[in-house]
Formats: sequence, structure tokens, C-alpha cells
Amino acid sequence: MEKHDLIIIGAGPAGLSASIYASRYKIDHLVLGQNLGGTIAWAHKVENYPGFTSISGFELAQNFLKHATKLGGTIINQEVVNLKKVNGFLVLTAGDKKQYQTKTIIIATGTKRKKLGVPGEKEYLGKGVSYCATCDAAFYKNKVVVVVGGANSACSGALHLAHFAQKVYLIYHKDNLRADPVWVAETKNKNNIEIIYDTSIEAILGNGEKVDSVTLNQPYHNQKNLTTNGVFIEIGGAPIVDLAKSLGVKTDEQNFILTDNLMATNIKGVFCAGDVNAWQKNCQQAIVAAAEGALASLGVYQYLNKTPEKTP
Ligand SMILES: Cc1cc2nc3c(=O)[nH]c(=O)nc-3n(C[C@H](O)[C@H](O)[C@H](O)COP(=O)(O)OP(=O)(O)OC[C@H]3O[C@@H](n4cnc5c(N)ncnc54)[C@H](O)[C@@H]3O)c2cc1C
Repeated sequence: MEKHDLIIIGAGPAGLSASIYASRYKIDHLVLGQNLGGTIAWAHKVENYPGFTSISGFELAQNFLKHATKLGGTIINQEVVNLKKVNGFLVLTAGDKKQYQTKTIIIATGTKRKKLGVPGEKEYLGKGVSYCATCDAAFYKNKVVVVVGGANSACSGALHLAHFAQKVYLIYHKDNLRADPVWVAETKNKNNIEIIYDTSIEAILGNGEKVDSVTLNQPYHNQKNLTTNGVFIEIGGAPIVDLAKSLGVKTDEQNFILTDNLMATNIKGVFCAGDVNAWQKNCQQAIVAAAEGALASLGVYQYLNKTPEKTP
């Protein structure tokens, strides 16, 4: 079985920053990640990461990957499907069935998109329903689309879609958008985005092949059904914690992982960074995830140095 001092699960901003710092601390490590680059690759434009006044999320993610690799990090494109403790070591199984043994791990698994939970959502996934405006916007050239949500990813998604679609309806169940003020201003000023406040979607309808409308919980311009070619659900993310929970890692009531200030969880040798961590749940941003990745590697470094005799 391949053995390491540290394995980082997840190759987004948190995991890749952890790898950069682990390389600088000369910690023997490996990154196992799916969707290399992480969620930031979905952002059509990132304008709040220091050093880049404006960069596409995809390019920023590629820069993170190149940086981590250049410093010596090995990044393997694999999902971790199982995690357990055996004789004090952590044993990980990847999707290709290969097993790895390690003294420490950093869980940097991020979040998965939240579902709306309405009829038609599952049925029309990939047939008009999408959770990624950046990935699918180009399919909606000159079409009408609906974006559901009112925070950063909804506004960013609506603005990206507005470059392609003829009309974008942004449907939010509250009376005010809660994205960063810059996003709110840009969204409100875009002439092909129409914001429908205090409204939610009850169902997504279509002809079996593709979406053709949504049913609103209350009429808009006297219509309960709004005609649309696509529905983009941008209502935030839920932490990916199955592996962590299988080890007994403690989470808060919303399932975000609890850590100390060097990102150590309640389980010895298990650290956590990024969007999955409870520290940053009110500021889920690449810069914060990267900062936590750096702290987690420092935590691992101190753990490995302080307790080598106790460390398996
Ligand atoms: C549309 C959109 C726009 C955004 N715009 C901005 C912006 O402008 N500026 C900004 O700072 N932030 C932005 N964000 C937020 C930013 O993307 C996140 O805060 C950041 O990516 C979190 O980094 P992370 O490494 O914690 O998690 P993620 O980036 O989500 O990375 C986690 C990775 O772990 C992988 N993973 C999960 N489980 C496993 C497993 N079992 N095995 C292996 N790998 C696994 C996932 O596939 C993923 O690739 C945006 C987000 C979205 C959705």
C-alpha cells in the first residue's frame, strides 16, 4: 500500500493551497481530488482574489493546479470513496480501488450544490435544469432562462447568463438580494435581467424532453406560469462530509466541520479546510479557503513534528 505523511482530499483552492504549503514544509504528501481546481472553476469572473483584478474562475483554478504541481505536489484525479482508521493510521480507498495509508489528512471536500426539491427538478436535470451557469450558459444563446437564488452565485450566474440569453429572470424568495453590493449593483443594472422578489418556484414543467416553464407560488404579471427554456438553481452549497462523518469528525448543526484555529478536528491527525469548514460558512470564498488550506498544513506540520513518537 502506498504510504504518505499527509493526504489532502479535494483539489480546490483549499486543498491546493494546503499542498503548496505542505511542499514548503517539506511534508511528504499527495492530493486526491475529483473535479481538479474545485468549484472556483465555475465562476465566470473572479474579481476579489488578490493579485488578479479580473480573471476567469477556470484560469484561476488552473493557476492553483500549476502552482501546487510546480512546488512538488502530486495531484491525482480520483474520488476518495472510503476512509477509515486502522492501527492508528488513516487508510483511504480511491475510486480506482487503490488504497493509501497516511499519518494525517486534510479534508478539503468543499460543498455540493443545494437542490430546490420541487417536482420536475430531477426529471429535467440536463434537459433545462442546471446547477452551473458558467458550465451551461452557452447553450442558452438568445433563449429565456430563470435563475433561482439571491446570493453571490445567483447574481454571478445571472450576469454570466445575461451575456448569452435574451432574457434572464432572477427569482428570489426574499425582498432584497443578499449578494455582495458590487454583484447586486451590476445585476440590477443589467437591462436583460429582471428580478422577481418574494417569489419561489413550485414546479418545473416541460414536455418530457425539455423544460418549457416554471410554476410560481404567486402570480407575476397575472401569470402563475413563467415560460422559460432553462432553470439555473443557484441556492448555495451543502458541505460534503460523508467521509469525515464516517470517522466520527464533529460537525455543527448544519453539517459544517468543527476545527480549532489550526484546522484540527476532534479526531487525531484529521484536519479540515475550506468551504466544508464551519469557520468560513458565512464567507465561502476562494481566498478564505486558500488561507485555511495554509493553516491546515501548518497544523499538520506541527502535529507531525510535535508528536513523532505518538504518530504512527
Ligand atoms: C458560481 C460560483 C461563483 C463563485 N465566485 C467566486 C468569486 O468570484 N470569488 C471567490 O472568492 N469565490 C467564489 N466562489 C466560491 C468559491 O468557489 C469557493 O469558496 C471555493 O472554491 C472553496 O474552495 P474549497 O477548496 O473549499 O472547495 P471546492 O472548490 O468546492 O473544492 C473541493 C473539491 O473537492 C472535491 N471532492 C469532494 N469530495 C471528494 C472526494 N470524496 N474525493 C476527492 N475529491 C472530492 C470536489 O469535487 C471539489 O473539486 C464561487 C462559487 C460559485 C459556485
